[in-house]
Amino acid sequence: MSMNPRKSFYLYKWSKYHPSAGWRFHNILASERMPRDIQRGKEMAALRELVAHAVKNIPFYRKLYADFGFCLSDMKHDGWFEKLPIVTKKDLREHFDEFIDPAQRQFMRVSTTGGSTGTPTKTGYDGRIPEEIYSWRLQNRFGVNPWDDHAYVWRDTRQSRWAKFKNAALWWPTKHLKLDASFLTDESIAAFLKKFNALRPSLLQGYVGAVSQVAQYVLDHHLAMWSPKVVWTTSAPLPPVQRQLIMKAFGAPVCDEYGSCECRWIASQCSVCKGLHVNVEHVHIEFVDDDNNPVPDGEYGRTLITNLEDTVFPLIRYENNDRGRWLTKPCECGRTLPCIDSVKGREVESFKLPSGKIINGEYLTTIFDTTPDIARGFRVVQCKDLSITVECIPRDTESRAEIETIVDDFGKRLGAEVPVSCKFVDLIQHDRGKLRFVVREK
Ligand SMILES: [Zn+2]
Repeated sequence: MSMNPRKSFYLYKWSKYHPSAGWRFHNILASERMPRDIQRGKEMAALRELVAHAVKNIPFYRKLYADFGFCLSDMKHDGWFEKLPIVTKKDLREHFDEFIDPAQRQFMRVSTTGGSTGTPTKTGYDGRIPEEIYSWRLQNRFGVNPWDDHAYVWRDTRQSRWAKFKNAALWWPTKHLKLDASFLTDESIAAFLKKFNALRPSLLQGYVGAVSQVAQYVLDHHLAMWSPKVVWTTSAPLPPVQRQLIMKAFGAPVCDEYGSCECRWIASQCSVCKGLHVNVEHVHIEFVDDDNNPVPDGEYGRTLITNLEDTVFPLIRYENNDRGRWLTKPCECGRTLPCIDSVKGREVESFKLPSGKIINGEYLTTIFDTTPDIARGFRVVQCKDLSITVECIPRDTESRAEIETIVDDFGKRLGAEVPVSCKFVDLIQHDRGKLRFVVREK
């Protein structure tokens, strides 16, 4: 039997980068259908191992758990894990270095984001974990192969021709069609859609806001589009209105996914489920009330995540500031991975400029990505006259000048079409209890 050369090339390249990806992928395809109590047993074993590792090797947890009066022998008792203290974004910001395992520091990578909550976050993670297997599992549920041709509506970080060429060469013969989501124009969307129909990709992936905008263009212009096997939206929850719009434009199912800077692969949909299947091999999720007690299944609570596989920069009972809940019914697809409800309320606005150019909302959240330490919080507001204000809580008086430079550069990237100003504030205004980091005044 001859093997698909695309598949061989793809797996060979990954085996150089993450040698364990192949067999681990095989394992998680099996474990998503194992009886739930077997999955739960594995989760608990992983939690015990991780906490024992943290107590011995991670300065932050050694101190936190000692102050709390926890010792490893407490793991004998039921509910020991749910009694451990919670870790907050503030802890992460103020004690970043103490979260690192000194003996494994060389494996740490850093991830930063403006984040959906408007608080810049910097986190470390173990670069050896082959996270791509969770992406492959998601694709597998829709009959998509990672070595198929794919299309992306993405923030394109490779600006130079040389960098683009190198990337294309790396993935050859698989083709990746890209539309830069930062600045969408009618022209760029039209050119992308033309290439999309010629390439016939099996997957379209991108930011919710940007993909919706492309879908709106398709419908407005009555274009007949090639249907990929799935449209996979990321980086913000997928409101039902947007889902309908995208389905209609591309005639394909839409897959919602949930992740964050601190844990990128929390949960994702299958083709039938109402909620999102949690990647329990990778992350342990809890929902708790204001007193940190678990809420009953089906009720909303504050989300705590524990990265089960990460011993280099462990996050244990980390509060990511989202609210969520378990779905009580098992999914009809037969996968036993438990389901959470889709995360709501973090919708993202886009801005319009006088020329008609649209600035993608998710792009606006990335302004401080490269320097997440300089601000405690921010939001970007477009007033009725289309002028833009970046409200920002500076880290301290020294960081103010740096913030002003970043906002200036941002204004220049918009082509000086509208005034862009910077305003220092002590507090970012909430909207009915939710932080909205991109606001368009109507
Ligand atoms: Zn399912």
